[in-house]
Amino acid sequence: MRREIIIIGGGLGGLAAGIRLVAKGHHVTILEKRDKPGGKAYTYKTQGFTFDSGPSIVTAPFMFDDLWREAGRRREDYFTLEECSPYYRIFDHKGSYFEYSSNEQALIRQIRERSPRDVEGYKRFMASTKPIFELGFVKLAEQPFLHFTDMLKVTPDLLRLKSFISTYRYVSGFIKDDFLRRCFSFHPLFIGGNPFDASSVYAMVDYLEREWGVHHAVGGIGAIISAMAKLFTELGGTLELNAETAEILVEGRKVVGVRMADGQTRRADIVVSNADSAYTYQKLIAPHHRKVYTDANLRGKKYSMSLVVLYLGLDKRYDDGDIVQHNVILGKRYKGLLNDIFNRHHLARDFSLYLHRPSHVDPSLAPKGGEALYVLAPVPNASSRTDWSQAAKPYRDALVTFLEQNYMPGLSKHIVVEHMVDPRYYEHTLNNYRGAAFNLQPLLTQSAWFRPHNRSEEFANLYLVGGGTHPGAGLPGVLASAIIAAKLIGPA
Ligand SMILES: Cc1cc2nc3c(=O)[nH]c(=O)nc-3n(C[C@H](O)[C@H](O)[C@H](O)COP(=O)(O)OP(=O)(O)OC[C@H]3O[C@@H](n4cnc5c(N)ncnc54)[C@H](O)[C@@H]3O)c2cc1C
Repeated sequence: MRREIIIIGGGLGGLAAGIRLVAKGHHVTILEKRDKPGGKAYTYKTQGFTFDSGPSIVTAPFMFDDLWREAGRRREDYFTLEECSPYYRIFDHKGSYFEYSSNEQALIRQIRERSPRDVEGYKRFMASTKPIFELGFVKLAEQPFLHFTDMLKVTPDLLRLKSFISTYRYVSGFIKDDFLRRCFSFHPLFIGGNPFDASSVYAMVDYLEREWGVHHAVGGIGAIISAMAKLFTELGGTLELNAETAEILVEGRKVVGVRMADGQTRRADIVVSNADSAYTYQKLIAPHHRKVYTDANLRGKKYSMSLVVLYLGLDKRYDDGDIVQHNVILGKRYKGLLNDIFNRHHLARDFSLYLHRPSHVDPSLAPKGGEALYVLAPVPNASSRTDWSQAAKPYRDALVTFLEQNYMPGLSKHIVVEHMVDPRYYEHTLNNYRGAAFNLQPLLTQSAWFRPHNRSEEFANLYLVGGGTHPGAGLPGVLASAIIAAKLIGPA
């Protein structure tokens, strides 16, 4: 039966769910609070610079192809993906780097130069990631975990593949050199997890990257978002911008629509929330309607880190130095810094960074001779109670000084435009509980059946998509959540 469906939020999860549901014949409206869709993947354009505010790395590109196929179209007709070369450079605190790419021989040569005894361990590690991928991606990521029995079915595999140990510990079983251990275990950070706590199931990212490559979208991730919005509206969906939902309306044990911030109400047969799951329950549903996700329950969960992201438009290019398109710059402290961020909720003076320089390969993102880049630092979420109105400026200065002294000489003289976001942005603009940029932490105890379900435990006609629900944050996880929600809702 054709349903009237409202989707709250036009982030990647909302758009992907919208496309799938409208392709199934439903009448779908996306209500997005901001002036543009994209959410974490919002794009800023100013003075000839284009900044993708969030995701930059596309893994599992076949998931976009599949989304377009579902809509009866070809993804290639809408946007272009290119494989990155190299995938990224990972710098140690002294500035020497490990270059990660699809070139197996080059990887082995670098491992041999740094730590000859780890060559065999690396090969064994990589071979071990295929069954982990088959468990983590094929068996876990695209299946709804609505019943505890679903969890019991995969428990033997989780035990067999040691999913209860951390990614770092798992990698350490194969690789002895401390820096190489970091290089092969930092991936949970890309989806908001501490490598020392996140399940070893995230070692599947190494497999994903090696099998399908690391890609970027020509024109930036913004090109993907525009293509998704275009596809959704071409299929007959309605995308309303500057349309904030203030409340999900409940009658008995069913949701019946939403009340907007401007007071209007909209009726719907089904509501899908792409907003963060903890925010959805805490802020959009009155407490007396919630039996599972009470405020106390939400307070007791563990949330991902937040971020400071500094966007810089430069009138100079830095093609001569070591930095490439994607750069991970690890500080001297690793475990201690992560502990400060995730567990102590303490804003440390040192940092590890991700430096994204898309104009390195796509000059259209900056005026001629210039660069558009961002530098990202993981920081504690709002549990730290840091006063960012005081902390932001010194933090920004420390980032610029560090880059200027180590990687980008003369940087401060070449900044033409700049913009910075901190945990306040993630909490109040993107509406993520505690400003956790990647929603709930990806812990085994908060995964699959233990994560907020794609069909709500509270109301049978409320569905959740996006990083806060199963399977989790990151483009592949969010796209998978849309597959699950659309399957559960079914065709018109
Ligand atoms: C800086 C950064 C870098 C990242 N890099 C990568 C990467 O390289 N590769 C990767 O795979 N992943 C990356 N990620 C993770 C990935 O971007 C996210 O997991 C994903 O984009 C989240 O999509 P989403 O649909 O869950 O949520 P969001 O993008 O947050 O979308 C939610 C939408 O809901 C809207 N909304 C919220 N509340 C309301 C309301 N009340 N009414 C109406 N609308 C509302 C918001 O405005 C937003 O548009 C990165 C994330 C960040 C922050």
